[in-house]
Amino acid sequence: MPLYSYRCVLCGTPQELLCAVESKPGLVECCCGGDASPRVTRLARTPGRWGGVDTAHYNRGLGCHVDSYRDVDRIAEKRGLVPLSDMDAHFVDDAHDAYVAEAKQGEADTQEYQGLIASGVTAGEAAARTFSVSKMQDRGILDTAVKGE
Ligand SMILES: [Zn+2]
Repeated sequence: MPLYSYRCVLCGTPQELLCAVESKPGLVECCCGGDASPRVTRLARTPGRWGGVDTAHYNRGLGCHVDSYRDVDRIAEKRGLVPLSDMDAHFVDDAHDAYVAEAKQGEADTQEYQGLIASGVTAGEAAARTFSVSKMQDRGILDTAVKGE
């Protein structure tokens, strides 16, 4: 049985799960209540049944059948794909961290918005306060030349 690696999108806690391929869950619940998504792993190049690695197979990354690993490289290059080995060492972790930060911010925004609604503020006012111009400028989402308050 393969060991699958997950990481919580809210708190970043890693988790490992030993289960059959067919029962691998898309998401796993974390102790914090968040969802842990599967971590991106690189498929290992394993020798084919007859010894070589250059055998025809279905390539999940490319989503098509290929004749050999040379074929994989050729198709990937044609599509402008960059091998993970050429990316910055922390590319996957950095992308994950950015995703986690965005998810946390989204959660905080949702709580603020719902809190305002619960206090009797109109939906329009709640949205205007939650996503105010100054806040969006502080986050670098909105140009500082924009005036709104
Ligand atoms: Zn968590």
